[in-house]
Amino acid sequence: MGVLDRIALAALPVVPTRLMRMMSLRYIAGERLEQAVERLAGLTSEGFRGALDILGEDVASETEARGIAGEYAAAADALRERKIDAYISVKPTHLGLRLSEELAHELYSQLVQHVDTLNSFVRIEMEDHTTTDATLRIFERIRESSPQRLGVALQSRLLRTSQDIDALLEGPLNVRMVKGVYLEPARIAYTDPTPIREAYLEGTRRLWERGAFVALATHDELMAEELVALAKSMGIGQDQYEFQVLLGVRTPLWRAWRDAGHPVRVYVPYGPNWRAYSTRRLKKNPEVFRHVLKDLVRR
Ligand SMILES: Cc1cc2nc3c(=O)[nH]c(=O)nc-3n(C[C@H](O)[C@H](O)[C@H](O)COP(=O)(O)OP(=O)(O)OC[C@H]3O[C@@H](n4cnc5c(N)ncnc54)[C@H](O)[C@@H]3O)c2cc1C
Repeated sequence: MGVLDRIALAALPVVPTRLMRMMSLRYIAGERLEQAVERLAGLTSEGFRGALDILGEDVASETEARGIAGEYAAAADALRERKIDAYISVKPTHLGLRLSEELAHELYSQLVQHVDTLNSFVRIEMEDHTTTDATLRIFERIRESSPQRLGVALQSRLLRTSQDIDALLEGPLNVRMVKGVYLEPARIAYTDPTPIREAYLEGTRRLWERGAFVALATHDELMAEELVALAKSMGIGQDQYEFQVLLGVRTPLWRAWRDAGHPVRVYVPYGPNWRAYSTRRLKKNPEVFRHVLKDLVRR
């Protein structure tokens, strides 16, 4: 990372809201549901699938958790109404997991029942390791009755993931494989990129072996090539995989995947809590900051 990028990073917390908003539009659809629906409609017309996320986590009260579940239900309705091929992707702590596992279970169950009437789907996201057990319990409890409507995410960074794959119940299974965005302690997680990639490939192989659909959520070009080669060697078809990517991250790469005939689902976040999410994205790619500044100077 160059000196200018380092300066840009250090300045992120004090960047004025207007400027942050400008940079954020690359990574988020906006603050309102209608903006997210428009963005997803555009992506659908370009041949992509979508996943919709309301920004935020760790609600402070049951009322707030119920409000978020209501917003997700309304979002699923809006997608259905516009015939957009997209589903909702929901963080457990946004539905109150840290307040009560029963509450989160109840709200995910309600969402799954709701999307069942819309012929849609709910993805349970995976947060830091303190939530893994409860998240998997909720997933398995609901999967028993609605296996086609619900999927989970697993993190190759965590040492436990290999056992978690073994422990998943038989039956239809839909897993989003990710490296894991939370920096976990070395006693429970790989910390170097190589074992994280190896565990990703191995986890995917084992999931495919047991017949699962695997959403390959990554922007790692080399790993993606290895995943495609693995799928080919195992005779895995498009009924068992898709790529999943974040809006605004390495866009030319995933356009090329689409052009090569791979199914690609784009993750589109929206909501008033956009600043923290965008800061995380910009930290990974401070070049965006430089481009926006250059644009401003030119005007
Ligand atoms: C659709 C989707 C859903 C996800 N859901 C979860 C989840 O439920 N739980 C969880 O823990 N993690 C989730 N993640 C995040 C994931 O765990 C990784 O942290 C993230 O995808 C980066 O890893 P990578 O495989 O892209 O490889 P990396 O090696 O990290 O990145 C490959 C390349 O892409 C660029 N890049 C990657 N991510 C970003 C970014 N955010 N901003 C800018 N540039 C970037 C890097 O600079 C690098 O050049 C999700 C990711 C995606 C794409």
